Amino acid sequence: MGNSDSESRKALRSRTKLVYAGRTPEEQFGFVNTPIYRGSTVLYPNAAALRANSPRYTYGTKGTPTTQALESAWSELAGAAGTVLAPTGLAAVTIALMTALSAGDHLLATDSAYQPSRRFSNGYLKRMNVETKWYDPAIGAGIEALIRPNTRAILVEAPGSQSFEMQDVPAISAIARKHDICVIMDNTWATPLFFPPHERGVDLAVEAGTKYLSGHSDLMLGLVSANDKWNEKLRETYDLFAMCAGPEDCFLALRGLRTMELRLREAERQGLEMAHWFAARPEVREVLHPALPTHAGHDIWKRDFLGSSGLFSIILNPVSQQAVDAFLDALNLFGMGYSWGGYESLVIPFDCKSYRTATTWAPGGPALRFQIGLEDAADLQDDLDQAFAIMRAKA
Ligand SMILES: *Cc1c(COP(=O)(O)O)cnc(C)c1O
Repeated sequence: MGNSDSESRKALRSRTKLVYAGRTPEEQFGFVNTPIYRGSTVLYPNAAALRANSPRYTYGTKGTPTTQALESAWSELAGAAGTVLAPTGLAAVTIALMTALSAGDHLLATDSAYQPSRRFSNGYLKRMNVETKWYDPAIGAGIEALIRPNTRAILVEAPGSQSFEMQDVPAISAIARKHDICVIMDNTWATPLFFPPHERGVDLAVEAGTKYLSGHSDLMLGLVSANDKWNEKLRETYDLFAMCAGPEDCFLALRGLRTMELRLREAERQGLEMAHWFAARPEVREVLHPALPTHAGHDIWKRDFLGSSGLFSIILNPVSQQAVDAFLDALNLFGMGYSWGGYESLVIPFDCKSYRTATTWAPGGPALRFQIGLEDAADLQDDLDQAFAIMRAKA
């Protein structure tokens, strides 16, 4: 097979790469997919191999053919030198932060970060004597003014969790490079398909595989990919913690990977259709979706991103909490629950006010985050329409 190594696939487009990456049928008796390898002990063939620790696989925590398949596929997709697999997306965030930071260091982190990442910084990094300064996601090259002699990492996320602010990642990365600071990006929303992180200057890119890589709300996984500069340090930190992902979850992620482009393209199409529909509703004050020209970060999105996914937020015109609750309870086709990236539509109310420190959150009405699934958009709209009627009756 002419496409059997990543070097020969370099010229191929990502959609084709997704079909071939990480597969080694010749090593799996011809079977198309790498099966689930379970195991702790790996037997060495002889004493010399044991002393030299030379075999490709040496222990369960150090990788199996299943994890190797997913790691190499993800590295290829992300344009990375290497990838490590963690049991959850949040574990991937923490491994990335601990790769770059040591006691006494200073971290700059976006005020729009995924909230549990903020809790890790405030709750654990602080105990390790790492100080975090939260910054306005709109800061761009202005981040240089916040850099101290001990600033060692910048945590970016675009668009922002819940609130969807964009960030000028290339500008921030250029400043970071000048000061030899590690840029860590939570790239879960776009995935490497819609934002090639390392090409844009990111050193360590985090993906919650729980979301679009899984695609079916049935597994938890985190991935950290690294460029050449950070790959060794990432692997070393990862090995110290042995915070590895489970074999079934890696297998399911590999299965999800093969259709990720198709699912994302549909999430983009359907997400945009729903975003435009919301924008035309009298109950809706604002739609926070970076692919809409009305979005404050639209130009950055257009310049740096190759697509948008199916997660966005809306701000309602002012209405009582009781009316919002009546709306949520009246929905039949939108589940209420955390996480996203599956095939089913979800909604969750949110309020960033309680935890933001660098920016003010005053959107002018109740905020709801929607994950648009694969249902028929007309059914979703009918469902929302009847729920809006109930909301108006309560208002
Ligand atoms: C969900 C999510 C995570 C964490 O993933 P888990 O697998 O749930 O721990 C991290 N970052 C972002 C942006 C997320 O949406």
